[in-house]
Amino acid sequence: DSAAFDEEVKSVCPYCGVGCQLSFKLRDGRIAWVDGVDGPANEQRLCVKGRFGFDYVDHPHRLKTPLIRRDDAPPKGLNVDPADLSTHFREATWQEALDRAAGGLAALRTDHGGPAVAGFGSAKCSNEEAYLFQKLIRQGFGHNNVDHCTRLCHASSVAALMENVGSGAVTATFNEIENADCAIVIGANPVENHPVAATYFKQFAKRGGKLIVMDPRGVGLGRYASHMVRFRPGTDVAMLNAVMHVIVEERLYDEQYIQGFTENWEAMKAHLKGFPPEKMAEICGVEAETLRTVARTFAGARAGMIFWGMGISQHIHGTDNSRCLISLALMCGHVGRPGTGLHPLRGQNNVQGASDAGLIPMFLPDYQSVGDDGVRSRFRDIWASGDFSAEKGLTVVEIMDAVHDGRIRGMYIMGENPAMSDPDVEHAREALAKLEHLVVQDIFLTETANYADVILPATAWAEKAGTVTNTNRQVQMGRPAVAPPGQAKPDWWITVELARRLGLDWDYGHPRDVFAEMKRSMKSLDNITWERLEREAVTYPSLSPDDPGQPIVFGDGFPRPEGRARFTPAAIVPPDDTPDAEYPMILITGRQLEHWHTGSMTRRAQVLDGLEPEASCSMHPKTLRRLGVGPGDMVRLSTRRGSLLVMARADRAISEDNVFMPFAFVEAAANILTNPALDPYGKIPEFKFSAVRVEKT
Ligand code: SF4
Repeated sequence: DSAAFDEEVKSVCPYCGVGCQLSFKLRDGRIAWVDGVDGPANEQRLCVKGRFGFDYVDHPHRLKTPLIRRDDAPPKGLNVDPADLSTHFREATWQEALDRAAGGLAALRTDHGGPAVAGFGSAKCSNEEAYLFQKLIRQGFGHNNVDHCTRLCHASSVAALMENVGSGAVTATFNEIENADCAIVIGANPVENHPVAATYFKQFAKRGGKLIVMDPRGVGLGRYASHMVRFRPGTDVAMLNAVMHVIVEERLYDEQYIQGFTENWEAMKAHLKGFPPEKMAEICGVEAETLRTVARTFAGARAGMIFWGMGISQHIHGTDNSRCLISLALMCGHVGRPGTGLHPLRGQNNVQGASDAGLIPMFLPDYQSVGDDGVRSRFRDIWASGDFSAEKGLTVVEIMDAVHDGRIRGMYIMGENPAMSDPDVEHAREALAKLEHLVVQDIFLTETANYADVILPATAWAEKAGTVTNTNRQVQMGRPAVAPPGQAKPDWWITVELARRLGLDWDYGHPRDVFAEMKRSMKSLDNITWERLEREAVTYPSLSPDDPGQPIVFGDGFPRPEGRARFTPAAIVPPDDTPDAEYPMILITGRQLEHWHTGSMTRRAQVLDGLEPEASCSMHPKTLRRLGVGPGDMVRLSTRRGSLLVMARADRAISEDNVFMPFAFVEAAANILTNPALDPYGKIPEFKFSAVRVEKT
């Protein structure tokens, strides 16, 4: 009913990497409801989060005033009541809070050197905010200890893609599935985590496309699959090498493509000899004949795509897992043509854009290496800056370790919540408590903000302007729809004010000024202007001012030496945390449809919280019977890191020796249990495999 709203504002969903375009319908200056609009990734569709998950912006817990920790506050801990912050914090003016925030960081820089201060930016902020944040750490503190949640998400996928195809982004949009006749979806649960993308996958299957779903869990997309392959957690490399073994053995590969566009094929072929499906079946728990069928189906397709999620990336062998998927696509020639491609389904709404903007410790914007003197020199010119370190910075988990050993003493955290999202989260919380000076910028008193010395209230996505880049490489414009509460300010404004107080000569009046500077160093933004984004979404690369962008890349070679992609053989590396008699089962953590990451927004959205108000873990009904536990009963989960109580749920999609648990609930924080062991290349922790004991309480 168009009469029921006063105004509408077109923007982008703040949750997942699908990047659905939506329209905020406003009444009396507030969001009354949300509709999907015709964006390139969603064609008017929205999932339950995009449609009903917006009222957190009006929640009474919103931070409205800058806060400074009281001199007589209790010791730092997870102990602040979000409804009454006055026990720990006092209100301050922006002037005082910014002076205190910057002054504390500057003092650490003077006393201990720039590397004593690290930064976590956010994939929930805009491209411009991510760019400014990494610039602040690099220019202001002279080093690269700046990271964000990509490290916990697809860092290993990006490491493998950079190594083997020369670019960390997807080679084809997910919508390209409409031109495919076969697709593998592995280690992903798009029905819950990328729901609108999942609608395209379902349509593909209904039209007769061969959908191969591979996962330890019987994920929802399995109902639509021509082949549902459930394998043992952590055995991805064994399984994928076996599939590739069959393709080599039966000569199903695309010889012409391999000769024209790849390197290291002979070494790959030799390596794969050691992975016959009959032998690998014992490891991965999938029958050899099924592995042969998958190989024949994918290799025999006219056009095939591979989609993967964090079931692939969040392992100590996450980079190896992605190397296998890349090799599988390359040997079949399934890259660079309509209906083909490699697509890691990116998690957060702007994790692609924040990574592109340089919010990572090893790369400046557009993945330009910090170790390259020429690259740093160009950035020094653009920034009118002194030099900064050529050394790769520390990653998310490494930064917390560096706090424990005293190398890092202060942090600036914008929109991230490591007190919930880090593996072995008690270790991270102890690190946050140990910091001499912690500045947190957010929209709510997150668990991380409990430990802050200064809290800077930020605007929510619906309250500010900025661009974001989704999993498809589509750059889209977010627009302010409603006024921020109290004195909350946009993240970019706060970062600029801190930079000025840290002695940097920054002069930006609007995010479009930042975007203009980004274009000077980022080739990916060629032909993409702020003015253009006001009118339309653009997929990078865009080849001309009129080109809507290239949904498929690398049809004529790769951004690597001689234009060739590389086969990198992967050996089997067992999971770090081995089950034994004391911890006999396997814990897998992840997300669920209604809640987003650490729950700071969705648990304050009435409909979403109403649908899923309580923490739970899921086990097979037979497992529950064996434990003498009924659905709804409380169980104790214990790993080598910690222990918690949580409600049990029955779910036939979980294997009998597995437990699945979402990580959005502070009262049963799954990351108390998870393992901080890291993949050596992507430095991503092994969230997807922890040895666990389950006990009846
Ligand atoms: Fe938002 Fe993702 Fe749902 Fe689209 S699919 S509405 S982007 S959460």
